Amino acid sequence: MPTSTVEDYLKAILLEEQVLSSGQLVTMGQIATSLEVAPGTVTAMVKTLEKLGLVAYEPYSGVRLTEEGRLEAIRVLRRHRLIELFLVEVLGLDWSEVHDEAERLEHAISEKLIDRIDVLLGHPKVDPHGDPIPNVAGELQEKELVALEEAPPGEIVTIARVSDQEEAFLRFVEKHGLRPGARVVLTSRDSIADAVTVEPLGRPPVTLGGEAAAKLWIEQPAPLRLNP
Ligand SMILES: [Zn+2]
Repeated sequence: MPTSTVEDYLKAILLEEQVLSSGQLVTMGQIATSLEVAPGTVTAMVKTLEKLGLVAYEPYSGVRLTEEGRLEAIRVLRRHRLIELFLVEVLGLDWSEVHDEAERLEHAISEKLIDRIDVLLGHPKVDPHGDPIPNVAGELQEKELVALEEAPPGEIVTIARVSDQEEAFLRFVEKHGLRPGARVVLTSRDSIADAVTVEPLGRPPVTLGGEAAAKLWIEQPAPLRLNP
């Protein structure tokens, strides 16, 4: 059974792979930043992962997960995201604090328990941050989302995902009514100031800088219906 360190590496590589175009390798630097460890430590660990058959390693270029490594990483991600949802929905923890708890519990919980949680929650598709939960068969379906900044001005859109797990940022999102599921209208966009203003329905408008706005994703707005 993989150790918690192995699992953290596999999960980090999977999450990095998801933002790269297919075929691109994940660099040691990306893994080091994501896990907050020294690059030398990463190189040593990656060689171990290669011996275990979990990654393919190309010196000076980077790594990619093997099929086995990918399946293992998806299992960790499934545990992590189901635990987060369980902590919010069942134990009533705040969504801004569950990520750190899940980071620990994801290595400890058994497959039997996680499957029971999955059933209890009704086979949920997304976690409290809007991240997709892999199903029991190990399938991870990423929904096509659109950056909030790309929302058609004046139209109601739904926040689908918040791609930052930092507690302070999540509290900010919560305070302004921008959690996944919230319906908002983009009221203005100022590309010179790199800012957008959005108005969650029934709440005061909030102005976001480009960096903050880039962490918020919306569902694909419905295509304009043409006359029959
Ligand atoms: Zn998390």
